Amino acid sequence: MEPKILSGKEVSNSVYAALKGRITTLKSQSIIPSLAVIIVGEDAASQVYVRNKTRQFSNHGLFSDTITYPSDITQEVLLSKIYELNKNIQFHGILVQLPLPNHIDEDAIIDAIDPKKDVDGFHPYNLGCLAAGKPIFIPCTPKGIMRIFHHYNITISGKHVVVVGRSNIVGRPISILTSLKQANSNGTTTICHSGTDNISHYTKQADIIILAMGSLGYLKGDHVKEGAIVIDVGINRVTDNSPKGYKLVGDGDQLSLSEKVSAITPVPGGVGPMTIAMLVENTVEAAERTQV
Ligand code: NAP
Repeated sequence: MEPKILSGKEVSNSVYAALKGRITTLKSQSIIPSLAVIIVGEDAASQVYVRNKTRQFSNHGLFSDTITYPSDITQEVLLSKIYELNKNIQFHGILVQLPLPNHIDEDAIIDAIDPKKDVDGFHPYNLGCLAAGKPIFIPCTPKGIMRIFHHYNITISGKHVVVVGRSNIVGRPISILTSLKQANSNGTTTICHSGTDNISHYTKQADIIILAMGSLGYLKGDHVKEGAIVIDVGINRVTDNSPKGYKLVGDGDQLSLSEKVSAITPVPGGVGPMTIAMLVENTVEAAERTQV
């Protein structure tokens, strides 16, 4: 049987529909949820991500301003811009598009963002609150994955969730979210990474597999049990003859997985649209919090 396609596009549309009333209420108080985006350098993928994010802000009547710096900018200039944005009451959220050039300490930049404006949820304060089970801003990609589970009535409690990847952006926070003692969570989570021997030993036992590696087509049908659910976060560019010159492919081998799994997110159109929808939602939340 064909697997169910877990469409991030469909889920993100329901998120935007649910946000409409909240945005209208804020606007009735002359508050337009606003995001400052900082992008450094010419990385083509980063530029596409930033364009896709800011497009959704304008589509939903929110404001975003993109501040672009050349790749040789100093850390000091970047930090002083962040300090300025922290104080600027026009902006409810600040996003620094990663990765940054090697001469800039990414941790120092993330640490400089006011946690109250950290709509990406990457600041150690927000990650700590998440780990303690009292999240304020949840990183957008893991938050979006949890929303996919909720939308499609996928129960996590009692399930074995295997996450491959342990970054602070995806793997680590989704491993926390899926194992919290909370409704819609409560899973038994295993986290795999480059130090894990024989990853397929774990993925073969998994009810739910979350792939967040950046390794093209890594997980094959042979590596999963019949009926497993696969959330493919990976985004890998493969050159092709399309007008863009490339296509996006995930960390899962969709063809062989389709013969085994019961449900899977596509790439593109799976987790990606949810990441952006959660950024919009987090910015709306940040704007609402300025009211209390
Ligand atoms: P990252 O910081 O590079 O982390 C990758 C993680 O995967 C690391 O923990 C690494 O292990 C592990 N890993 C990589 N190759 C492996 C292998 N062959 N075997 C075992 N573990 C392996 O990447 P990230 O920021 O988490 O992103 C992961 C992927 O998701 C990328 O393709 C990225 O583009 C994509 N992404 C998509 C979205 C979206 O909205 N769809 C959002 C964010 C990221 P170590 O820790 O041991 O190095």
